[in-house]
Amino acid sequence: MKTLLILIITLTTGILLFGCAPRTKQNDFEGFITSHVEKIKPLAKEQSLAWWDAATTGKSEDYERASKTTLRIRQIYSNPEEFALLKDFKESGQARDTLSARELDVLYRRYLGNQIEPEMLKTIVDLSTEIEEKFSTFRGNIRGEKVTDNTIKEILKSQTDSEERKLAWLASKQVGAAVAEDIIRLVKLRNQVAKNLGFENYHTMSLTISEQDVDELDKIFTELYELTNAPFAALKADLDKKLAANCDIEVSQLMPWHYHDPFFQETPMVYELDLDVFYEDKDIKELSASFFAGIGLNVESVLAKSDLYEREGKNPHAFCTDIDREGDVRILCNIKSNESWMETTLHELGHAVYDKFHDRDVPYLLREPAHAFTTEAIAMFFGRLSRNPAWMQQMLDLSDEQRWEIEKVSGRYMQLKQLIFARWAMVMYNFEKELYANPDQDLNSLWWKMVEEYQLVKRSEGRDAPDWAAKIHFTVAPSYYHNYMLGELLASQLHNHLVHKVLKLESDKNVSYVDQKKVGDFLRQNVFEVGNVYHWNEMIERATGEPLIAKYFVRQFVN
Ligand SMILES: [Zn+2]
Repeated sequence: MKTLLILIITLTTGILLFGCAPRTKQNDFEGFITSHVEKIKPLAKEQSLAWWDAATTGKSEDYERASKTTLRIRQIYSNPEEFALLKDFKESGQARDTLSARELDVLYRRYLGNQIEPEMLKTIVDLSTEIEEKFSTFRGNIRGEKVTDNTIKEILKSQTDSEERKLAWLASKQVGAAVAEDIIRLVKLRNQVAKNLGFENYHTMSLTISEQDVDELDKIFTELYELTNAPFAALKADLDKKLAANCDIEVSQLMPWHYHDPFFQETPMVYELDLDVFYEDKDIKELSASFFAGIGLNVESVLAKSDLYEREGKNPHAFCTDIDREGDVRILCNIKSNESWMETTLHELGHAVYDKFHDRDVPYLLREPAHAFTTEAIAMFFGRLSRNPAWMQQMLDLSDEQRWEIEKVSGRYMQLKQLIFARWAMVMYNFEKELYANPDQDLNSLWWKMVEEYQLVKRSEGRDAPDWAAKIHFTVAPSYYHNYMLGELLASQLHNHLVHKVLKLESDKNVSYVDQKKVGDFLRQNVFEVGNVYHWNEMIERATGEPLIAKYFVRQFVN
């Protein structure tokens, strides 16, 4: 990283000394950055602390303080004069190929995403809050009786009567009909914002703001589609036999409600695998601390500031937050001694080491992960270890026999889990792209066309309902879902590179990463330290020798 900075400083100086354009713009921009960072740095810290307090106490005054600071930050980034200034800097093209060009780019996109007329913003926020509220209060019904989401899930997991399953599945889709029109309205409003800013539609605008583009994503998703077609069909054929047998029907009679969740995005639990028994008497925090220390990424300082166990009023989920970009990184968990919390704790600490080990010499604005999905990838990379038989054997002192027991099912389970998710992510990505491109088309039928093509799940005959609208992500996290998939792909690409190029092994069969300092060193030097100095794909190419591709994911999970 140090050499990189020297190189960049040389480049900057070179341009300042020998560039033929007047240097005033560059000076102006540097002045702008300095005063911007002075303004934003304390506010961002205040915001992170307020959200942290809110999540750990559940007090409404903390939530209020948090949303007030968030609003103040938003006001800074929505300033149209400053945006115009940045645009002007950008168009002058003087800072090209330097670190400040990168800062300008990052800043420009952040302002761009906030250039919405206040009135329009209010309309959009109000409408999406309204839809969200409908989602949280709506209850589907079975034979006129209201049921909760948990009841529906329970039925889809265990019921063997097809008619009962069908009623539960239909109940899960009723919310779609209740919100579909509002979602289409929301999509059109978002598109209007995008068009005002010169974009084709909201989807393409969102991608641009997050430094992605449709062609690039299409290429990755097409590759993934082609590489998983045959293996997915084979795995699913096997799964279908089991699902049909459970309900005492023929495979040809399988319908969408025979899968174990409303969208067939999760792995049906038909292959027995209970890993909790191996974790029930273990200290998850200690295991995590000692694993990360063993690969040279000490997390003691993170754990010391974290909030790890359940408490009244506390946020029941898990997340990681970088409070100040100066080393105060914390995770929030609700640890219990089971496999799922082992995975989650490793996952959150994965985010944490990424943040903790940014090089502090990198300018403040670039001291962040290269992309939301790259930090997700690191988190997934570590989270996957909780089911890795070699890792479990070493960390939990298991016998060869116990390890073999785990191996028998976990490999197959991981394969299914990953392939099912990949095919589902294709539906989400492709549908969302079409939704924003033309919200007036026949979306109900488009959805089922994609489900049939990607997930190989048959549409119920004659069904014409907005089943797509039952997925809350279109409302609350628009144009984001594909990043979960990109995260999985990068986790596998890094895994492949570490196994073959860094550890120089023939295969990943016995790889646990336990006590492999080289692994920590590699990630720190090539991914964490550089932060957001490069476009995410350039960072990936510098680290692994190739831009992001799907084949390593397929190689890891298909055999
Ligand atoms: Zn995460």
